Amino acid sequence: MPWDHTRLNHIAPAPGASLRGPDGFAGSLTRASFASPADSSMIPDGRAPVPPESQMKTFTNPVFAYRRSADQRPGEAARHPVVVVGAGPVGLCTAIDLAMQGTPVVVLDDDQTVSVGSRAVCYAKRTLEILDRLGCGQPVVERGISWNRGRVFLRDREVYGFDLLPESGHARPAFVNLQQYHLEEILVARAGQLPLLQLRWRNRVTAVEPQADGVTLQVDTPDGPYALHADWLVVADGARSPVRHLLGLESRGQVFQDRFLIADVLMKLDHPTERWFWFDPPFHRGQSVLLHRQADNVWRVDFQLGWDADPETERQPERVLPRLRQMLGDREFELEWVSVYTFQCRRMDRFRHGRVIFTGDAAHQVSPFGARGANSGIQDADALAWRLAAVLRGRAEPSVIDVWSREREAAADENILNSTRSTDFITPKSDVARAFRDATLELAEHLPFARRLVNSGRLSTPATLDASAANTADTDAFAAPAMRPGAPSVDAPLASPAGEPVWWLQQVGGRFDLLLFAAADDAASSAAQALALVDALAPDGGVVHAVLPAPDPQAASLADRLEARRPGAARVWIDREGLLARRCDARPGTAVLLRPDQHVCARWRLAQPAAVLEAIARCAAGPGAEGADSGGSAAAVRAAAAIGAHP
Ligand SMILES: Cc1cc2nc3c(=O)[nH]c(=O)nc-3n(C[C@H](O)[C@H](O)[C@H](O)COP(=O)(O)OP(=O)(O)OC[C@H]3O[C@@H](n4cnc5c(N)ncnc54)[C@H](O)[C@@H]3O)c2cc1C
Repeated sequence: MPWDHTRLNHIAPAPGASLRGPDGFAGSLTRASFASPADSSMIPDGRAPVPPESQMKTFTNPVFAYRRSADQRPGEAARHPVVVVGAGPVGLCTAIDLAMQGTPVVVLDDDQTVSVGSRAVCYAKRTLEILDRLGCGQPVVERGISWNRGRVFLRDREVYGFDLLPESGHARPAFVNLQQYHLEEILVARAGQLPLLQLRWRNRVTAVEPQADGVTLQVDTPDGPYALHADWLVVADGARSPVRHLLGLESRGQVFQDRFLIADVLMKLDHPTERWFWFDPPFHRGQSVLLHRQADNVWRVDFQLGWDADPETERQPERVLPRLRQMLGDREFELEWVSVYTFQCRRMDRFRHGRVIFTGDAAHQVSPFGARGANSGIQDADALAWRLAAVLRGRAEPSVIDVWSREREAAADENILNSTRSTDFITPKSDVARAFRDATLELAEHLPFARRLVNSGRLSTPATLDASAANTADTDAFAAPAMRPGAPSVDAPLASPAGEPVWWLQQVGGRFDLLLFAAADDAASSAAQALALVDALAPDGGVVHAVLPAPDPQAASLADRLEARRPGAARVWIDREGLLARRCDARPGTAVLLRPDQHVCARWRLAQPAAVLEAIARCAAGPGAEGADSGGSAAAVRAAAAIGAHP
């Protein structure tokens, strides 16, 4: 049955669009969860035990047990290399990464459950790749809804559709939609598998005293307070960030004068898995509406309400249900969650303050348009953990954390800029701005160039860290901007010498990885080059990946020779569709060096072992360190060789 009745059905599909119909539901409401407090804003109110009226139908918040820790015994306060405050997505990812890199870590959270109510939905391809590296990408993809395509509507017609991942040869889709509480449950389960990670529920940080070589914390628990020392404190305590307040620090920016109603609706709908965005639809005149599918037949609807809307009134069922019926028509649905929010775009001036490091929402906040909050926070974790682990092993200077801070501050600026532009387009602030927007939308229906100007929430992409002091500038010419120093590596399908298919990005990370493109039918010279690079990297350093352009009878013997030289220090792959070489603009001999977070830090047409070591040393140095500019002291080179070692 087509969607061409009334309400949501006011949409005329674009030519070729397939809009499939509902299952013939009759409008009804049985039970709803209504968020408290009245204006549940982008700044969450902490996560108190779930009140009965906030219980959802498809999810019951788990209650994680508080356990008294050995650190609570009377006596001298215990000292830990890293303490993370906050077990949201960012704190959990940071801790998982640290523990996987051999660094013991304690996570303190004031609550004893995962996120309460409906928050993040969309996780970008880059986040899924990071989660893969952390050992939990697959359950997120399996539990969630993968999507690549979206559509933009103006009033009663489709203006255009887009595909965020039009090419094949990537393990992960452009996005997976999954309720934040499911993501957090998966992360908590992964954390529980790591012996070096202690997760302490109902441990509220109440005081923080920074010192030159660490931080002393006061922690409140059901058994009373205790003190802890940390060499480094990672703050991931969310947008309100009590730790930021305790230290008298600020996050500055802009509050947007608009309100949005989130309604999570439980309904069975045979509808394409796409992001749909309406400007001025017939069922919600003058405002915008966003529709996303989540797991368990839950659909997220975001209604723009305008600044004058009263949040308390708007979240009442008598207001919410008519809005939904206008949109959904006679379909049967149940409300899963309702809240009204405003949002801010802001960040701290600096993310590192001595031994205290701010990450995620505590450090920066964006509007939800474009899904940049959790995605960018997880990228903070990705870029931080390997550096912190290296500093703690004495393999990198503490000032390497300043390089991290600058990378992530620049990424936050990019996210805030994109998010602010989306917000300005979606909610024009003047009649002129609205006229421009509407004209752009009208044009976009017929003229592809105008589509680039339409901004219905330009979706999260990872920052390319162009200005990072960790990059070694290109000295050779490459026609592959996607693999320039600072960019996260592209993905591609490969095969093992035995023919087993694998994905490139699932083979790398957590240490330095050197990608080396070997010549066809010349295993001897490939072997010589690979062996020289394997030798150059210290025994506990990175891994060389020799990539052959096609299945090669000599691949297995090349793998054996490399393995014999240094077990585990080299792998051999077949570029089964030629995509990795194409995406890197590679020729025989081309080498690309990846940091432990899979970002490119250097590339050469012909890699010399000394140049590789120099590039690694640059990643171990601070922003203005001599080693970073001049190519690295011998000590830095030695140190760097071990920076990405697995325990
Ligand atoms: C409506 C909405 C939609 C969104 N959609 C998306 C989306 O689609 N994609 C996306 O990427 N992002 C989205 N976001 C943003 C995303 O929810 C946040 O960016 C993300 O939760 C930030 O994670 P975090 O770990 O930094 O902080 P939080 O998730 O807020 O976690 C902070 C943790 O710290 C704990 N804590 C606080 N104080 C203390 C203390 N004193 N002691 C100990 N523990 C403490 C809290 O209990 C909490 O567990 C959305 C947000 C909203 C509100």
